Amino acid sequence: LLEIMGINKSFGDLQILKACSLNVRSRETMVIIGPSGSGKSTLLRCINLLEPADDGNIFFEGNDIARELRRAPEIRRQIGMVFQNFELFQHLTAIENIMLAPMKVLGMSRSDAHDVAMDLLKKVRIPERADFFPDELSGGQQQRIAIARALAMKPKLMLYDEPTSALDPEMIREVLDVMAELSSEGMTSIVVTHEMGFAKRAADQIVFMENGEVIENASRDAFFGGTVNERATRFLDQIL
Ligand code: ATP
Ligand code: MG
Repeated sequence: LLEIMGINKSFGDLQILKACSLNVRSRETMVIIGPSGSGKSTLLRCINLLEPADDGNIFFEGNDIARELRRAPEIRRQIGMVFQNFELFQHLTAIENIMLAPMKVLGMSRSDAHDVAMDLLKKVRIPERADFFPDELSGGQQQRIAIARALAMKPKLMLYDEPTSALDPEMIREVLDVMAELSSEGMTSIVVTHEMGFAKRAADQIVFMENGEVIENASRDAFFGGTVNERATRFLDQIL
């Protein structure tokens, strides 16, 4: 579904991504780990064209989108993104947050959008919170609304950037459970997270980045079986 070949990205004189290559097949989940500043968020932002890569290729369903900035809105519609801080619309209720893009972007009727949103609220296990505003919800609930909002566009790929790192420990589980369920149902996903329990449960591939480079890219079994790059091992020792 997604093949990244040798992308580079610099901000000014600083090279942030160095010849990064990755391949995500349909229905796979890839977990990306790595120290702060290693370029994980920048990589996700290049994939959904929030930042243009300087060079290299990003094949999405076989087409190189790396520099297709004109097509960015159309491509972004097919790629859902979930951020650390939820970024819900504060003046809209949970269900209105989910209904907005299907109505505005896809031209869905209000009642169809409402049905879709209600199904998604059930999917993320909080149908009873439909009419609450974001500031009336816990962090874990807000993040599940953000996931439902992304899913409402029926994306082909989901990108999650540290989706649980702003959450209290007791809420991390409920968000990871929803993500793991989506993965097991075949939602193609790239997840930046240091939750290695999630990686163990849901990841097909695990990628370790450092200083803008992909240092290691291993199958889950190889990764947890211990045949990992020693820099990745050292990093894991620090976070676990
Ligand atoms: P973290 O784990 O802290 O989220 P990360 O791996 O996601 O880190 P990035 O956010 O991709 O890292 O940042 C990589 C580097 O790029 C950092 O040194 C950051 O300061 C720099 N950077 C990111 N965005 C910009 C920007 N728009 N302009 C200039 N520098 C940037
Ligand atoms: Mg980041």
